[in-house]
Amino acid sequence: MSQVVTRFAPSPTGYLHIGGARTALFSWAYAKNKGGKMLLRIEDTDRERSTEAAVVALIDGLKWLGLDWEGEPISQFARASRHAEVAHELVKMGHAYYCYCSPEELDQMREEARAAGKPPRYNGYWRDRDPKEAPEGVSPVIRIKAPLSGEIVVHDHVQGDVVFKTENLDDFIILRSDGTPTYMHAVVVDDHDMGVTHIIRGDDHLTNAARQIVIYNAMGWTVPEMAHIPLIHGPDGAKLSKRHGALGVEAYRQMGYLPAAVRNYLARLGWSHGDEEIFSTEQMVEWFSLEALNKGAARFDFVKLENINGHY
Ligand code: GLU
Repeated sequence: MSQVVTRFAPSPTGYLHIGGARTALFSWAYAKNKGGKMLLRIEDTDRERSTEAAVVALIDGLKWLGLDWEGEPISQFARASRHAEVAHELVKMGHAYYCYCSPEELDQMREEARAAGKPPRYNGYWRDRDPKEAPEGVSPVIRIKAPLSGEIVVHDHVQGDVVFKTENLDDFIILRSDGTPTYMHAVVVDDHDMGVTHIIRGDDHLTNAARQIVIYNAMGWTVPEMAHIPLIHGPDGAKLSKRHGALGVEAYRQMGYLPAAVRNYLARLGWSHGDEEIFSTEQMVEWFSLEALNKGAARFDFVKLENINGHY
């Protein structure tokens, strides 16, 4: 089997929070367990929300946690021309098309769908139209042709086989009219080009996975193995918020927690090895497997973190 390549792909819009740190730890531990490597990709395509300060904070947080990656961090924004190239290639292959619809037309389409009791979606107006009919002076977006019938199955190491009906995926945009890629498209092109074999990320990306598989299939690329991990909840079962401790890793450092203790604690948030509560990072790497990731949401608990820290 080829070398395992994982990646951590944060969007630089804030500090490295506990959820992101856990995703990075699992991606790192899996790569180490398999003698492979983890890559770091900074998803800075959204220029409005990405900041240099956040890039620095993310890298500092990872370093403090003791997680390393192979090579230089990869900027997604810097790869924009490659994303555009693939989108145009998809058009040439007949798997994607230029769409010239105006915002007003799209609004009307959504209204009509709603009135018919259907989800507000693009109706495929330009899917089979001759681009010669295109209105003048309009820069088109590029949409992928989502399969009209059948299913997309995400074979997930945590969630099992998750089936999506393709009729629920519309012809989503892969390249905007200004030539910039959408998140959905950039992630696929990058993961493919970087040789990523295993995608480990939060399960809020599970429905994206189905759309991303449409792009992989259209390009004839191998779909990486996937593991979508349940999000972390606060002690009361609600989504983790700042009140619950969804702080930046930096905050734990300032509170005096030791990196080894935070690693141990994060590992236990959604992964287990028998009843082991306290273990070294070497042990975690040795024992780590995707199959031992929990299917249920993990609960953040300061008392446990406190106890674990006491052992280090
Ligand atoms: N940049 C995305 C995020 O921070 C992650 C994308 C991915 O892992 O595919 O949520």
